[in-house]
Amino acid sequence: MTPYHLLFTILYHLNSFGKLLFTSSLRNIFSSTISARMRTKTSALICYNKETEYVVFSFLAPSKDVKYMPEKINLSFDEMWEKVLACDRAYDGVFFTAVKTTKIYCRPSCRSRKPKKINVAFYQDIQEVENAGYRACKRCRPDTTHSPDLGVVNSVITFLINHYKQPFILQDIADHVGISSFYLERLFKRETAETPRSYLEKIRVDKASHYLRNSLKTNLEICYETGFQSPSNFYRVFRRLKNCTPSEYRHLLNEDRP
Ligand SMILES: [Zn+2]
Repeated sequence: MTPYHLLFTILYHLNSFGKLLFTSSLRNIFSSTISARMRTKTSALICYNKETEYVVFSFLAPSKDVKYMPEKINLSFDEMWEKVLACDRAYDGVFFTAVKTTKIYCRPSCRSRKPKKINVAFYQDIQEVENAGYRACKRCRPDTTHSPDLGVVNSVITFLINHYKQPFILQDIADHVGISSFYLERLFKRETAETPRSYLEKIRVDKASHYLRNSLKTNLEICYETGFQSPSNFYRVFRRLKNCTPSEYRHLLNEDRP
């Protein structure tokens, strides 16, 4: 099966259109017929028949199943467990916590009593967790999505989690999910009350905190490994989100440990 489906086909006779008119009328057809969602990933197949002098344009768009195929999330078990302990809403919808003893699954942000780590399994796909015989928690209701746009928002968050190391711009994310960058920013803000940029900063700081807790890497190493472009930027963002410097954070943790 092809990952693309045909949007529409236009037949043009070369003789009846000058080259300029040809291009501009095509652009009009594009902007009026294809929605913003389709535009970024639409491609055209062009065939020219010499004998008849007809040109056939076939416009193709990726089929829906391909566009929102969930990307495997690049978080370790321990990292996901940290989000669960912190009841971190930022990861809701990105993965689910399933408790083997109660056969119930939750959002990471669920406020119910925490299960034992050993009894927990993580799932990324809601269908998969339900097929494994788990029931949705009545408290955090992980089976209810409040908006149909959440699928797109979750793909964006997964993309940010998986690509936090690289520098990228809004357009890269927009291309990945197949919508315009303008629409992406608006939709993301409406659903999460944050911009993709500030969300990415949180993911980077979470990653840095994980390293500070669990590794002997220096602050500078952590800065570059978590995708920050300069130490000053790293310190500024870290302080804004954690209310302390990376060194203070590490020091405080060591004091907490028995
Ligand atoms: Zn729950």
